[in-house]
Amino acid sequence: MINSSFLFFAFGINGFQCNSFGDKDSQIVLNIQKRMDKMRCPCCKSRHIIRNGYVWRDFKAVPIGHIPVVLHTKIQRIKCKDCGCDMQEEIHFAHGKRTYTARLENLVVDLLDIATIKSVAEYLHLTWDTVKDIHKRRLKSRYGNPNIRNVKSIGIDEFAVRKGHVYKTIVVDLETGRIIYVGDGKGADALKGFWRKVDHYGVVIEHIATDLSKAFIASVMEHAPLAVHVFDHFHVVKLMNDAIDKLRSRMYHEEKDLNRRNVIKGMRWLLWMQVTKTHAESFLDEWIRQARSTKVSLIEKVANTIAAYRSGILAWYDCHISTAKVEGINNKIKVLKRNAYGFRDDKYFELRLYALHDRRITSFV
Ligand SMILES: [Zn+2]
Repeated sequence: MINSSFLFFAFGINGFQCNSFGDKDSQIVLNIQKRMDKMRCPCCKSRHIIRNGYVWRDFKAVPIGHIPVVLHTKIQRIKCKDCGCDMQEEIHFAHGKRTYTARLENLVVDLLDIATIKSVAEYLHLTWDTVKDIHKRRLKSRYGNPNIRNVKSIGIDEFAVRKGHVYKTIVVDLETGRIIYVGDGKGADALKGFWRKVDHYGVVIEHIATDLSKAFIASVMEHAPLAVHVFDHFHVVKLMNDAIDKLRSRMYHEEKDLNRRNVIKGMRWLLWMQVTKTHAESFLDEWIRQARSTKVSLIEKVANTIAAYRSGILAWYDCHISTAKVEGINNKIKVLKRNAYGFRDDKYFELRLYALHDRRITSFV
């Protein structure tokens, strides 16, 4: 027969003996039984107990090679002569009512580093949902409540979970690239939970990078008025480029007025050629003045937008942060979404987001 120490080393099972084994439906079935000398009262650990009935249970264990292994065992009901407690004996090798061993759960998590949920499920003869649930629990214990105590610089952004209608807002620690908060929806409401957490832990956020979203700006003003709020360069450049493209196609080539031409050209150099904040300030203000004097409504409109975002654009000179890290994460999110056909489990999706910076655990879906 299989000896007890083999049960322990191979399957993580202690205090049991194997009475027999056989094969059934292409599985190896080990009939195991708790050793009498290891029986204790689950409440007071007394040995003065009476066996009071039992139920049969099967547990999936780690396979031997490609062959699945099932542990078939009696779970005793125990009545204690000392404390009077009357309950089922404790099973230490599986959690709660689960039908697989803790050792098998560990194997699932290890395999998910190098394989997809689908292939791990196939290899271990488990369902897709079982593998997902195991992964979800592990992610929850590791990433369920992200630590934000030392966070100083954050980037905020949003993305569409499903094209066009379901949104999530993420807050990223710009130093570590970790997602530290996932909010449902977009806009100020999506950030409420984050600010509550900031208050709760007394965290002082010093630098914040966002795009030009009015909702984010308002939310930052309300909850972190003292933080340096930087409008992300990437988004400002995009705003400029869009305006330039429009102008180009509509009027640049017919434009004879040198001043107007210079204004349009100047947009390219508006921010990036300036060495200091003072230079940038005067260049920006001069450009806004010139742009407004052109009396061309499209240029005036851009000038007004730039004027409205002036402080956030110039804040970059105080603190060179951007949402570049957030954009990097957005690319990973795209891969995650593309591979994640079965992400109807919103909480699981959220946990996968929290784990995104940890490449080991998120290379595969
Ligand atoms: Zn007892």
